[in-house]
Amino acid sequence: MYPVQNNNMTKFIFVTGGVTSSLGKGIISASLAKLLQARGYKVTIQKFDPYINIDPGTLNPYEHGECFVTEDGAETDLDLGHYERFLNIPTSQANNVTTGRIYQHVINQERQGAFLGKTVQVVPHITDEIKRRMKLLDQDNKYDIIITELGGTVGDIESLPFIEAVRQLRWELGSNKSLVIHLTLVPFLAAAGELKTKPTQHSVKTLLEYGIQPDILVCRTEHHLNQEIRKKLALFCNVHVNAVIESIDAPSIYDVPLLMLKEQLDKIVLSKLKLTARQEPDLETWKTFLGKLKNPTAEVNIALVGKYIELPDAYKSINEAFIHAGAANEAKVRVKCLAAESINEENVAEVLQGFSGVLVAPGFGERGLAGKIATIQYVREHDIPFFGICLGMQVAVIEFARHVLGLKDANSFEMDQKTKHPVINLMETQKSIKEMGGTMRLGAYPCTIKKGTRAAAIYGKTHITERHRHRYEFNNDYLKTFEKAGMIASGINPDNGLVEIIELKNHPFFVGGQFHPELKSTVANPHPLFVNFVAATLAFTKKNKK
Ligand code: GLN
Repeated sequence: MYPVQNNNMTKFIFVTGGVTSSLGKGIISASLAKLLQARGYKVTIQKFDPYINIDPGTLNPYEHGECFVTEDGAETDLDLGHYERFLNIPTSQANNVTTGRIYQHVINQERQGAFLGKTVQVVPHITDEIKRRMKLLDQDNKYDIIITELGGTVGDIESLPFIEAVRQLRWELGSNKSLVIHLTLVPFLAAAGELKTKPTQHSVKTLLEYGIQPDILVCRTEHHLNQEIRKKLALFCNVHVNAVIESIDAPSIYDVPLLMLKEQLDKIVLSKLKLTARQEPDLETWKTFLGKLKNPTAEVNIALVGKYIELPDAYKSINEAFIHAGAANEAKVRVKCLAAESINEENVAEVLQGFSGVLVAPGFGERGLAGKIATIQYVREHDIPFFGICLGMQVAVIEFARHVLGLKDANSFEMDQKTKHPVINLMETQKSIKEMGGTMRLGAYPCTIKKGTRAAAIYGKTHITERHRHRYEFNNDYLKTFEKAGMIASGINPDNGLVEIIELKNHPFFVGGQFHPELKSTVANPHPLFVNFVAATLAFTKKNKK
């Protein structure tokens, strides 16, 4: 039905997971991609997730962590954030595929009569569609190597069709065109004082039952693998001993590419794919970043006020953007998550004691709104650096309306549909939308920055694009009143006049963005808003020490 086209040049690497989840397939995939990129290859990574949701946009951040948004407006798994942060190239709709999306496509086809009366089955129809998607990024010869990370753990019922598709695809691609890396756990049994290989043996056996022999084992471990353990794993799992790669716990995810380099993962991969290293790995920028990360000359405490604080992954990109910005400032940024709900006018001074800056997080719904308002009023009145992202920016607008403009019941239409002053309103384009999935204002939009503003100084240019994920916006009926009182719109969408950045004139650093700058921060390009915010918090710390 869909011819699986065979572009002879592109090589495919599949990364599977064994024994347990949360071993960090995303980081290993991104680290390998980084090394191959550093060796002169054009690489991309895609993630196939076995759940039924069409995309993670409708998933609660408590369950699945942050939803990452691509330039072209796909709501994706947070691993795509790692890919972009490591590789410094954007991903797209095609880089994240779920079981739900595969089935949706096949079922739509069935309804259109595309199968001509045939029984539609997992094999071959679902597996054909998986294979087609796996090769989608291969269309225009953009990449030398495509890494595909398979979500879930080998042996899960729901990941079976993906594993089967990999088996078929490897066979169709022919020799030296693909390889399978199996990420597994080698646990340490304290009582026995030993590392144990049995779980890995079992998970490789499961893979073999499905017709897949892994070429490389990457072994997560808390202790170094000695030669004996490596030999044992090689013997029982039919891999070469030099293809048993140790992945020891690292202080930071940004150490992993260098650890993999030391283990020669890139060399093994290239030799198995019959590729030659095009150059010695160029990791200059990476190493400079790591050097700064590990040798900070200053420290700063920043409060992240939000509502999904129990799960650190819920604000993944924000935390990573702070790491990039910290390194750029040669400072250690300690980010502490604070539950907005627990903050009120009485305790705010005490709660914010010791913090040199506050970021109010993106989010949805009313929970924690009062705490965010109390926080923003405090930092605004006490000249503490403030950075608001998406909902954080919207709440800064509400706070200003209530306490500076005297519009007592000012609110966002999202929180109160009866408010007399909807200073944040539902976007016109959102009014007729009933479906939840993929219907927000998503992806990159242009923004023009007003000359002479803080935003202009931060970006150093007047035309930018940033990524969005929201339904509500600043209500332009109020713009003049706000600007007269000192809160200005320093960034505007040139096509429809939506306010994208607000800032306060008379404040050391008070900036809010309707977009998500954290999604564009990478190791090679730390985001200027984060870099400048961290610089402002450092200046605040210095001033207050005197
Ligand atoms: N809930 C707000 C909106 O939809 C903000 C969204 C966000 O912070 N991502 O506009």
